[in-house]
Amino acid sequence: MSMSSPKPVAKPRAAERLQRRLSQHIGALCSDAATLDIRLTNNRSTMLSVRREPGRYRLRLHHMFVAASPQVVAALGRYVIHPEAEASATLDAFIAERSAQLQPVRESLRRSTRIIERPCGQHHDLRAIFDELNAGYFGGAIDAKITWGRRKRGDDELRPHKTLTMGSYSVEDRLIRIHPTLDRPDVPRYYVAWIVYHEMLHQKHGIPELGGRRCYHPPSFLAEERLFDEYELAHRWERQHQHRLLMY
Ligand SMILES: [Zn+2]
Repeated sequence: MSMSSPKPVAKPRAAERLQRRLSQHIGALCSDAATLDIRLTNNRSTMLSVRREPGRYRLRLHHMFVAASPQVVAALGRYVIHPEAEASATLDAFIAERSAQLQPVRESLRRSTRIIERPCGQHHDLRAIFDELNAGYFGGAIDAKITWGRRKRGDDELRPHKTLTMGSYSVEDRLIRIHPTLDRPDVPRYYVAWIVYHEMLHQKHGIPELGGRRCYHPPSFLAEERLFDEYELAHRWERQHQHRLLMY
């Protein structure tokens, strides 16, 4: 995959126009000059996905958005900056209405129904861990799917890595994904639970804006992290075993 080709690529007009409209909304809401990358697709499994990276928003949008009303584009602008409930509801309604007009396909239109959950690992059952945490810390209020991430196919050999994303939470899919390197007999259950707990907090706290910047781990989030029973234990275990987790 070529990532750094400096050659300007002619953009289809529709995408360009949508990008301009959307940039205006985002520019009005957000002081930092983030780049906006838009890819229009006909892929019904991804009607809308946003990746929020430092200084850049990457959007994959279904072509239906080209014909979106000013109100929907405004909601999209707000949603790109921060997936708040009202903007999200406007977009859901738009997608539902337009999807009904698309030719029917066998597979479901909703991306979330296409996610295959594999919560049951060889050593740790993520669903059981999630349910216990949900009952114990959240009063059952967290509504998310959970799965082990996939191992690279045909790659059983362990290699050293520099970084590791142990868990992630997708707002769009309401999906918690845990790295398969944690599914080992020598990784204590409380450590896996700690990673799951962190991702559950992401759903509870959302991504608030603080001082004009989106904050993934606001103070309220960090305070609640400390309520985890094995908080100290989990951190100590991580410090002592980091090098082994990074072999995957
Ligand atoms: Zn986090």
